[in-house]
Amino acid sequence: MSTQSENTRCRIAGTVRHSSVDGPGVRYVVFFQGCPHHCPGCQNPETWDPAGGEETTAEHLAEEMRSTRYLDGITLSGGDPLLQPSAVIVLADAAREKGLSVWCYTGWTFEALLQGAAGETALEALRHIDVLVDGPFVQDLLSKEHIFRGSSNQRLIDVQASLAAGEAVMTGAW
Ligand code: SF4
Repeated sequence: MSTQSENTRCRIAGTVRHSSVDGPGVRYVVFFQGCPHHCPGCQNPETWDPAGGEETTAEHLAEEMRSTRYLDGITLSGGDPLLQPSAVIVLADAAREKGLSVWCYTGWTFEALLQGAAGETALEALRHIDVLVDGPFVQDLLSKEHIFRGSSNQRLIDVQASLAAGEAVMTGAW
């Protein structure tokens, strides 16, 4: 019999088992389905519809991640992963158990998340993430100089240091 924790359903647009462009090193990437931000110029508008993509479970994705060799970390992208924070928590915990770093992209700012803009579970999910790339994509701020970000307003936030400080602390590494 399966337990509830073995059935964290989620909708995804797809996965990439080995990516070198979604954070440092080689990373397992999950593109979540569903995004409420609708940024003009978004590269992935097919991920906006929360009913689109395909249904799977976070546990299935975690198993695929565990069976993937040569990884340095995982990246949760989209879409907006924090629309499905329970799945984020399962995947992040599985990655950390394997010694992998966890990056997460979101269209919400860190400050908005702290104020509960994406709900309590999204706030809880932050506790399981190492680096948050935050904020919407802003076409006028398109930047090729800011590595791992589409526009210069987006920040690479050290989430655990930020939660301890009560304000956004940059990773400083990139
Ligand atoms: S947050 Fe990301 S996925 Fe969502 S609309 Fe903006 S750029 Fe696209």
